[in-house]
Amino acid sequence: MPSIKSDIEIARAAAKKPIFEIGAQLGIPVEQLAPYGHDKAKVSAEFIAAQAGRKDGKLILVTAINPTPAGEGKTTTTVGLGDGLNRIGKKAIICIREASLGPCFGVKGGAAGGGYAQVVPMEDINLHFTGDFHAITSAHNLLAAMIDNHIYWGNEENIDIRRIAWRRVMDMNDRALRSMVSSLGGVANGFPRQGGFDITVASEVMAILCLATDLKDLERRLGDIIIGYRFDKTPVHARDLKADGAMAVLLKDAMQPNLVQTLENNPAFVHGGPFANIAHGCNSVTATKTALKLGDYVVTEAGFGADLGAEKFFDIKCRKAGLRPDAAVIVATVRALKMNGGVKKEDLGTEDVAALKKGCANLGRHVANVRRFGVPVVVAINHFVSDTDAEIAAVKEFVSRLGAEAILCQHWAKGSAGIEELAHKVVELAESGQAKFHPLYGDDLSLFEKIEIIASKIYHAGEVTADKAVRDQLQSWEEQGYGKLPVCMAKTQYSFSTDPNLRGAPEGHIVSVREVRLSAGAGFVVAITGEIMTMPGLPKSPSAERIFLNDQGYIEGLF
Ligand code: ADP
Ligand code: MG
Repeated sequence: MPSIKSDIEIARAAAKKPIFEIGAQLGIPVEQLAPYGHDKAKVSAEFIAAQAGRKDGKLILVTAINPTPAGEGKTTTTVGLGDGLNRIGKKAIICIREASLGPCFGVKGGAAGGGYAQVVPMEDINLHFTGDFHAITSAHNLLAAMIDNHIYWGNEENIDIRRIAWRRVMDMNDRALRSMVSSLGGVANGFPRQGGFDITVASEVMAILCLATDLKDLERRLGDIIIGYRFDKTPVHARDLKADGAMAVLLKDAMQPNLVQTLENNPAFVHGGPFANIAHGCNSVTATKTALKLGDYVVTEAGFGADLGAEKFFDIKCRKAGLRPDAAVIVATVRALKMNGGVKKEDLGTEDVAALKKGCANLGRHVANVRRFGVPVVVAINHFVSDTDAEIAAVKEFVSRLGAEAILCQHWAKGSAGIEELAHKVVELAESGQAKFHPLYGDDLSLFEKIEIIASKIYHAGEVTADKAVRDQLQSWEEQGYGKLPVCMAKTQYSFSTDPNLRGAPEGHIVSVREVRLSAGAGFVVAITGEIMTMPGLPKSPSAERIFLNDQGYIEGLF
């Protein structure tokens, strides 16, 4: 058996084209691309605005079943399908999120795909890239600095320092910063108060950047951010502190989508990276909309399983941006299906058709859920070397009984050559005109009803519970005019329920909403159902211990 190359080895061996050539494939003139080195470029706002009158291509969502901790290969399949569509003669563009730098040094691998389905330069994409996350960190922390400065100079807005909601951010897994007291050290340093840091991807500024349609909309949304409350309990906005203009200045370049290429020299926009729990978890609206103008097919990914990722993609991103997806690919792996069927992580390498069949209930529910949004579905079986023929046959049979098709995909091992069949099927679905996209719920329902609809229809929960304090909070936001916003659920990605260990397709469980938060700038209300980590920590032996520069100056250990 040939030795299996690591993702970084494959990425490093890529025959990359100069980024201007990739731009030219899309009809982007050289002067409308701002290059960052030779293999990355930002697309100008002027060029994007000029495409407004063009017809949109087809939009394809890649989502997944409830995963194993390693991920099921959504990004890998998104990249592979983009290459596959190009291979069969379609002009396809990939849209994915940027990676957060912090987790690359912990346990998680990067976010540039894997095997022979990757976007490159993977080292840059996983680390500093074009500086977007730095810009977001700076804009976020500028607002934090202006809050404490406002209080220092007399607190004209009467901000109640016990009710400041705006924390600070950094793109690093650092649990030591989760909770802290700032402004210690005496009168000259301001008024001590309790605060802390979140990771940059959890910043509302990140969600705003990803949902804003242009720089004007960006500035308006930044102004709408609620940083905390006055002593009379009225909200204080970033606009009240006159922070919106300067924040928009810091984000000007970060708003422009980043163009890179796949291993097969096909175009990919890698732009924005909001969390998929307290935010909506997909790449920027600007990138997706631009790609739709420039390509016949746009393949994009939503974070986590379809219960979270696809639901938010449809109910938040598509609703707000007016996008109408034409087809969805649900990625399933034999190992995750077995895990959903009760197999332990260490036993996933052994054939177990019975457990797999049991775990298929999880896939079945995701198929039905996505169809609920009026979007036709195909299942991609992301092939792992340990999968057996009997297991693959069982998945195919299960899916065909649902009136859909499961297609074996070998893009990880073979690149576009391994995913042609899926590409043809996606074209067939998208061209069929079957898609009749609609969000799950209307804008006019109460916020609590929206939570109940998601919990009952998507999670199959029996009941949603919440304390009086939570219900009162939702009601007061409705009275303040925020009632029409969609809801962003923060829930474990491992289960339809709020219990990560409850695999498969549980019914009748209770979803308890512990806390609600208003992201007024991003434009959604977050409903938190469990422990939500907004500042991750590092494991006992972080991958940072194994990342280094080799004798040739290349990065080793990033995966
Ligand atoms: P997701 O987007 O669902 O989180 P990724 O596409 O990032 O998942 O893949 C997670 C990891 O799994 C990556 O390191 C990738 O290289 C690996 N991977 C994906 N597909 C396969 C496969 N078919 N065989 C082996 N490893 C794979
Ligand atoms: Mg991914």
